Amino acid sequence: MHLDKTLIVRGAPQEFICRTGCWDELEQHLERRGIGSALVVHGEASWQAASSYFPEMTRTRVHFEKYNGECTYDERDRLIRAIEDRGLQAIVAVGGGKLTDVAKAAANSLNVPVIILPTLASTCAAWTPLSIVYDDSGAMVGFDVYPRGNSLVLLDPQVILDSPSELLIAGIGDTLAKWYEADVIISQLDTVPVEIEIARFAARKCRDDLLQYSVTALKALADKRLNEAFVRIVETNVMVAGMVGGFGDRYGRTAGAHSIHDALTYVPQSHRLKHGMKVAYGVLVQLTIEGKRGEIDALLPFYARLGLPASLRDMELDFLSRAERLRLAERAVEREASIHMMPGDITADAVFDAIERLERYTTSQPERLGTQGGA
Ligand SMILES: [Zn+2]
Repeated sequence: MHLDKTLIVRGAPQEFICRTGCWDELEQHLERRGIGSALVVHGEASWQAASSYFPEMTRTRVHFEKYNGECTYDERDRLIRAIEDRGLQAIVAVGGGKLTDVAKAAANSLNVPVIILPTLASTCAAWTPLSIVYDDSGAMVGFDVYPRGNSLVLLDPQVILDSPSELLIAGIGDTLAKWYEADVIISQLDTVPVEIEIARFAARKCRDDLLQYSVTALKALADKRLNEAFVRIVETNVMVAGMVGGFGDRYGRTAGAHSIHDALTYVPQSHRLKHGMKVAYGVLVQLTIEGKRGEIDALLPFYARLGLPASLRDMELDFLSRAERLRLAERAVEREASIHMMPGDITADAVFDAIERLERYTTSQPERLGTQGGA
C-alpha cells in the first residue's frame, strides 16, 4: 500500500489537563481565552452526578442547555441557535462521547472554542476534532473532521469514578480496537513516516496498558477509590486512544472491527449495547477474517474477565437468522466501509463465514463456559 500524501496530523487538543479537582479552574481557563460567556451543554443522567463537581461561575455569563441524547445534525443546529440567540462566545460540553461530538459540531459551525469536561472515559471524543453523526433512529450516517482542535479538555478522574462501570468497560473495548485496526492498516504500508510510527506506538500502548491495568482500574470503580491503574486507563481511553487517529489520520482510524459495529447498528436489538461492546466483538470478527487464532486465544480470557462480548450469543443477538446474519455481513462490506482498509478483497461471504466460525469457536470453549458459569 502506498502512502497517501494528504495525511493531516491533528495531534492533540490545544490544552489537556488530567487532575483531581481540575474542573474548579474552568472560569480562569475561560478568562485566559478572553471568553466572558458560554453555553454549557450537559446530559441528563450524567449531570446528576457531575453537577456537584461543576464550579460556580461568578464572572462568566452562562446558559445551561440539556442535550437530547443523540449526535444528529438537528441537535447541532438547535445548539447553534441557542448560542446565536444569546450571543454566547464558547461551548462547554459536560458529558460523554455523543454529547461531546454534537458540541464540537456546533462549535465548529460557529467558529467558537469548545471546552470539554468529560463525565465518562469511554471514548476519545474529548481529544479528537471530529464528530460521528447519527440519524434519529440511532444509525450512524458518517463523520465530520474539523480544521480546529478542541480548545481545552479538563479530565477529572474523580468525576469519572462516579460513572457506571459498564461504560468504562465499553470504552476499554473501543480503545482495544485501536491496536488491531491501526496495525492491520499500517502493516500494509511500504514506507512508514514518523507520524504513523507515533500512531502505531500509541495504538500498541493502548492494548498493552489495557491488558495490564484494566482489572485493577475496575476495582477502583467498584470501591469508589482512585488508584493509579484507574487514572492510567482513563488517560489511555481519552488521550492515548486519541493520538492514534490524531497522528495516523486515516491509517490510525477504523478498519474491520468498526465496520462490524456499524453493521450491527442496523439491528434494532443491538441499540441497548454500548458502542465499545459491539466494537470489541468486531475485533474478534476482524481477527477471524485475518486468521489470527492465536491473538483471539490471547484475548478471550481478558474478554471473559471484563464481560466483553465474544459472540452473538454474549450480545443476546444469536436469534438472528441466517438471512439476517448475511444482511449484517453485507452491511459490513458496503462500499464506504472501513473494513476495506484491510488487505485483500473483503466480501460479505468472508464476513459471514467469520461470524459463523467465531460463534462456533467461542461458544464451544469449555474453559470459557466455565469462567462465565462461575462468574
Ligand atoms: Zn469506536
